[in-house]
Amino acid sequence: MTRFKTIGIVGIGLIGGSLALEIKKRGIAEKVVGFSRRHSTLEKAKTLGLIDEYFINFDDGIKNIDFLVIATPISAIKEYFLRINKVYPSILVTDVASVKEKIVKEAVEILGRDSNFVGSHPIAGSDKSGIEAIQKNLFKDKFVVITPCKYTKEENILKIKDFWESLGAKTILISPEEHDRLLAITSHLPHFIVYLLLSLLEESNNRNLLLSCIGTGFLDTTRIGKSSPELWAEIFIANRENLLKYLSKFEKILSAMVKILKEGNIEELTRKLYSFKKIRDELNGEIKNI
Ligand code: NAP
Repeated sequence: MTRFKTIGIVGIGLIGGSLALEIKKRGIAEKVVGFSRRHSTLEKAKTLGLIDEYFINFDDGIKNIDFLVIATPISAIKEYFLRINKVYPSILVTDVASVKEKIVKEAVEILGRDSNFVGSHPIAGSDKSGIEAIQKNLFKDKFVVITPCKYTKEENILKIKDFWESLGAKTILISPEEHDRLLAITSHLPHFIVYLLLSLLEESNNRNLLLSCIGTGFLDTTRIGKSSPELWAEIFIANRENLLKYLSKFEKILSAMVKILKEGNIEELTRKLYSFKKIRDELNGEIKNI
């Protein structure tokens, strides 16, 4: 396990705060330094013992750090690349954003081909946001996708891999483009559809009666609809090409199912539902290392 002297984390919310918690707990760095948007968040992080020190001025704080993790919303990341480029362009840096093609492209454009940036995305999180939402062992036994591009140095991939594994995660390497295509299917499209499902409850006639007919099935299915709209709007826009591609595939599946329903073909409907259920049942088995 690589131990760092000082790790900096920008954005002490669900992911950044949970990272700080694990780094401290597992002794991965001698010191954890925090940067965030609000002073109150930094004070809270210090009181909770997540960070040892914080800086309001990023340019001052970054100088004594040997590894930086950017855990802000997607829209703020570019600004940090620009600041890093001004004061410490050679720093080892990763991010945790849920989209990768845009971020890796910006890192290459701003920090250069020779930089020490490696993109990553922990497939771990929740529908809650902010420092209040931090979780113990958030990354334990979860996959973290590391997304090198053709300029990423092998030694840096190994360092980032080692970092996530020391938090208990399993790592996989996928190109930024392929990451965004796969996550469109497993995460971005489901979130999009769940938000739309919830819009069905806008019906105003007999609304109370409608709400009293909600069971755990609806609540389980729509849990992710409680997630931050700001965060998800950014993800949908950043990965819209893939999202639109799979939405159109989804529309075709929907049309085929509507046709079966209109025909009242119960045998065909049951056969289809069995084939979908089989896919879901297989997910309950252990997801093996890829
Ligand atoms: P979050 O809980 O809202 O935390 C983000 C934090 O960033 C906020 O607490 C905010 O801190 C800070 N922040 C906002 N703008 C900033 C700026 N300009 N400069 C510095 N700090 C700023 O969000 P999150 O869920 O941790 O998501 C953070 C990143 O992780 C996103 O890129 C997301 O795509 C990725 N991610 C999320 C999940 C998930 O399930 N949520 C999973 C994997 C990856 P203040 O309190 O100081 O305002």
